[in-house]
Amino acid sequence: MKQSQNLKRCPFCGGEPIPTSEISPKLSGNVIEAYVFCGECVAQGPTTTLWQGPEILEGGELYKRAYAEAEEFWNGRVMDKEVLKDLEDTREKLSKKLEGI
Ligand SMILES: [Zn+2]
Repeated sequence: MKQSQNLKRCPFCGGEPIPTSEISPKLSGNVIEAYVFCGECVAQGPTTTLWQGPEILEGGELYKRAYAEAEEFWNGRVMDKEVLKDLEDTREKLSKKLEGI
């Protein structure tokens, strides 16, 4: 995945941010999880979770959205602990729901 020019450096150590994504196959479709982490200290930004049907096209619209959201989190909201906690809670709720599918 090519490096976004818009990513800020790590807020903790100034290291180089690395956008990444994972696909978790579920019975009724695939879940795309994207986040940005620091290549130096491995600080991790909030994960964005997007749902897609059985077919995943690498580089597709949803993929781009996942990366865009993960990068936005990394750039703007990663330092806000309350927002971060909210996101983590939402993420937990979502993954619990998804586990039940
Ligand atoms: Zn770092």
